[in-house]
Amino acid sequence: MKVALYVCRVGEGWSLVLSLDIRVDVTWWLEGGSGRHVLRWLLLDQALPLSQASWLVEHFERERDMDKWGQHEWQSYLARKLDVYELTSGEVEARKGVAGKAGSVAVRRIQVGGIPEPYPAGQWAHLEQDAALLAERISGRQLLAAEAEALLADTAQPPREWRAAAQLARLHGRLSITAALEGPATRRRHAWLGRARSAPRCHRCGSEARQRVPCAACGLAACAYCEACLALGRSRACALLLRSAAQGAVPRRGEAPRGTALAPTGGGLARWGLSAAQSAAAAAALAFLARPPAGDGPGRFLLWAVTGAGKTEMIFPLLQHTLDRGGRALVATPRRDVVLELAPRLAKAFPDTSLATLYGGSDERWKDAQLTLATTHQLMRFYQGFDLVIIDELDAFPYHNDPMLAHAAASSCKPDGNFVYLSATPPARLQREAAQGKLTHAKVPVRFHRHPLPVPRLIKMVTVAECIKKRNLPSALRTNIQISLKRDAQVFVFVTRIAQIEAFVNLMRRTFPGIHIEGTSSQDPDRASKVIAFRERTIRLLVTTTILERGVTIPRSDVFILDADNGLFDEASLVQMAGRAGRSMDDPAGRVVFASSRRTRSQVKAVAQIRKMNTIARRKGYLHPPSQT
Ligand SMILES: [Zn+2]
Ligand SMILES: [Zn+2]
Repeated sequence: MKVALYVCRVGEGWSLVLSLDIRVDVTWWLEGGSGRHVLRWLLLDQALPLSQASWLVEHFERERDMDKWGQHEWQSYLARKLDVYELTSGEVEARKGVAGKAGSVAVRRIQVGGIPEPYPAGQWAHLEQDAALLAERISGRQLLAAEAEALLADTAQPPREWRAAAQLARLHGRLSITAALEGPATRRRHAWLGRARSAPRCHRCGSEARQRVPCAACGLAACAYCEACLALGRSRACALLLRSAAQGAVPRRGEAPRGTALAPTGGGLARWGLSAAQSAAAAAALAFLARPPAGDGPGRFLLWAVTGAGKTEMIFPLLQHTLDRGGRALVATPRRDVVLELAPRLAKAFPDTSLATLYGGSDERWKDAQLTLATTHQLMRFYQGFDLVIIDELDAFPYHNDPMLAHAAASSCKPDGNFVYLSATPPARLQREAAQGKLTHAKVPVRFHRHPLPVPRLIKMVTVAECIKKRNLPSALRTNIQISLKRDAQVFVFVTRIAQIEAFVNLMRRTFPGIHIEGTSSQDPDRASKVIAFRERTIRLLVTTTILERGVTIPRSDVFILDADNGLFDEASLVQMAGRAGRSMDDPAGRVVFASSRRTRSQVKAVAQIRKMNTIARRKGYLHPPSQT
């Protein structure tokens, strides 16, 4: 889209401002709308592509003698800046690439000066109301124009002219208006030489926007857009991004005097029916939330809870703490099925609190609620909206090594809010920070049933590929699986490659006749029904990949990880797969086997991590008396 651009001087300061509706700015500055005395006001352009206008605003600096400039000087200032923009943005080159010879370089038309019509005086009061409403509705969010329109259409009395209302909200300082992509940085000197030029960055998701297309909206032959967050609508160089930080953060954090922070929450913990280990970790997290603000951005707390610890129960008191103080809380989880499963539990635990459940295709997309439950991608629509952001399975797909979602998660929290990360297998970086005391954390080293985690046994075995080739299962593995089947356990067999599943299932069926054996993977349309059949014990042995490494709880199950030395199975993945065993109260001591031709660092570290958690649990007295373990 195109916007107007003007400069104005109020008091000592010069500002360069872009406008979605210049009539609003004329009334605001020149007809007394702002109530401030304007020394100078000059329209620089009525219709500039938003990408350029937004960049000019971001890079505006006062220059010497600016106070004395006339129209001519401003005209040459603008021409000079736009030259820099074109050189650094790569739009000229991209234009050649996209449109070939036909791509005529747009002839720049700079029309400085003139004063447009003001906004109709009789409608100003109404516009003020609309602006306040719009700012309120967008509060805590970042939305592209189309999303803002959808959100406003979902409002009882949508603003009649939302662009005008947004502009007024912007002038009131309640809203920020930028292009969806960040323009090029000028500091990069080499850009002048045409080298080291980076693609524009997406404000919404933080990715680099490398794609360009001719664009009717802004008239550019090569308008960049972001592919990474395309699923939520096209974030283009000329697309409008509206952002509004939520106001009224939890006001009284740290109100409790030092040392007593635990007291008011201790009583509150009782209602959640937590185990001793869960209570201790929740209390530590509550003390963290109640600490005095440090003033250096959102706080971070890691809740490191072993698989099967019952982490959901532990977040309830944290949510309660935030809600009690009038704050807004968000629970983000990578998987949609977890969102759907958690929603009724949250609704039941917090019956008097408004709850929004967000995932792709959810009809509560624009609902304002105190408690929000969302898949991670939905975080991109929020901007400094929450006092507490709980991130479930921090290390899981799609967070793992995904800067896009990390960016989205980071911007969803208020600057004085808090993050709580939940993980059974925190990424190495966080483990390191925790060990160095840079990241406050609490460990829940024991499962809810208070039995130790099964410790994996390492057995030596040839590769799965070789078994398939020789049509033979090594005796060590055969014997171990036999033991599991005899003790009536459900058997998980993890392999590294989807392509091996079918052949390996056939080999297993020949080896264990009479046992119902199936295989499944991410590409299996019947995966859900097979998991159900496995849970119901119709299927006894399931050959699968890391797709089932987490989130699946099968009572009375044993776990076999084949090719455990394969690089695809890192420490976290091994711990997660091992975590499928021994989850139920009636069969807490499942068996876990790592089978491989060699012992790797990942296997050794995974075993060490599991043993360490058991040791901590024993030392703290969280385990059942030894006779039962
Ligand atoms: Zn993006
Ligand atoms: Zn465009």
